Amino acid sequence: MARKFTGSFTQQEGLSQEAIAAAVAVLQSGRLHRYNLAPGEAGEAAQLEAEYRDWQGSAYCLAVTSGGQALQIALRACGVEPGAKVLTNAYTLAPVPGAIRAVGAETVLVEIDEDLRLDLDDLDAKIASSGARVLLLSHMRGHLCDMDRLMAICNGAEVTVIEDCAHTMGAQWNGIRSGNFGKVACFSTQTYKHMNSGEGGFLTTDDAAIAARATILSGSYMLYERHGAGPDPEAFADARYDMPNCSARMDALRAAILRPQLADLDSNIARWNARYTQVEERLKAQDGVTTIKLPSAETHVGSSIQFRLPDFTAAQCRALLDAAATRGVELKWFGAKEPAGFTSAHPSWRYVPAQDMPKTDRIMATLFDMRLPLSFSQDDCALIAELICDAVNEVAS
Ligand SMILES: *Cc1c(COP(=O)(O)O)cnc(C)c1O
Repeated sequence: MARKFTGSFTQQEGLSQEAIAAAVAVLQSGRLHRYNLAPGEAGEAAQLEAEYRDWQGSAYCLAVTSGGQALQIALRACGVEPGAKVLTNAYTLAPVPGAIRAVGAETVLVEIDEDLRLDLDDLDAKIASSGARVLLLSHMRGHLCDMDRLMAICNGAEVTVIEDCAHTMGAQWNGIRSGNFGKVACFSTQTYKHMNSGEGGFLTTDDAAIAARATILSGSYMLYERHGAGPDPEAFADARYDMPNCSARMDALRAAILRPQLADLDSNIARWNARYTQVEERLKAQDGVTTIKLPSAETHVGSSIQFRLPDFTAAQCRALLDAAATRGVELKWFGAKEPAGFTSAHPSWRYVPAQDMPKTDRIMATLFDMRLPLSFSQDDCALIAELICDAVNEVAS
């Protein structure tokens, strides 16, 4: 009988007593809407915005209902109109092309490289061939591309960069936080990301006009002065008339449970990275497995791990999913023909014009992905890594 892991890959840690108490206080107050404030009260959402702005080091922060809504609002606030072309990674998750489609724009896919980062030569080529003036850059699975070169390419071509930081909350490139490179950054506080409010998200920017447009888009009505990290009222002179209300406000309950989590974020990042390193070290020693190189300029947040089996056939990849599952290890495979769970590949996004992405397809064909929730101990991670290696050996033999 093969050894087996019995933990759950979708079980997050419970919320702290402090977060629970904050939630109960909001429930008792009855004031769950962010603009429903007692005299002199700042409100949980506004305080969260100010705290996240300070933590991120941006000028402005807006809390919204989801990371996907943050992406849509960012695209609109940057002036993306229906029919416009928007560049994005061919390897990402569905909310990214989904946001582009939701604003009526057209996705132009850019290849990735062996280490799952945007292929900057292809970016250069696609900017020229498509004429797109916006890049929605997905820092997919926490792997930052060379941000200095990326910004040089985009600034040189007058391409606006929107960063999708759903997987890089707290990550850095050369000491600069992801999200502080482009014009706007979007974050998610959905359960499987780095803070957990069920659903939720942030948009950060240093641009007052974009922050004002985003705030009105998020559904602030004319109550934007009740925000905690927004621009001065003058910045709203046009936005208050020009921007449609898309009702995507963060509520007080979710904000209340996020504030204590923000205080724990840095220590949690260290805990994720310890788990990541434990699994990575073992996989590096395994024949047939190629791990993803982490550049020295990158400060990673390892809340999930990816690896490739470049010599495996599709049948072997499928067999590996089964061999791992038998051992209690839940792997995701990006090479599957059909979308499954949270995982999908660009050919199954029918709302995106079909595009030939041979390099990305070749890389994704043997690419595996696994969550590392903080509910796993270091010993759990050591066992899981052993079990993956057992499964690889079984399929390879
Ligand atoms: C989760 C996710 C999002 C969107 O976040 P939600 O809060 O779930 O809407 C965007 N991009 C990527 C890469 C994600 O994984």
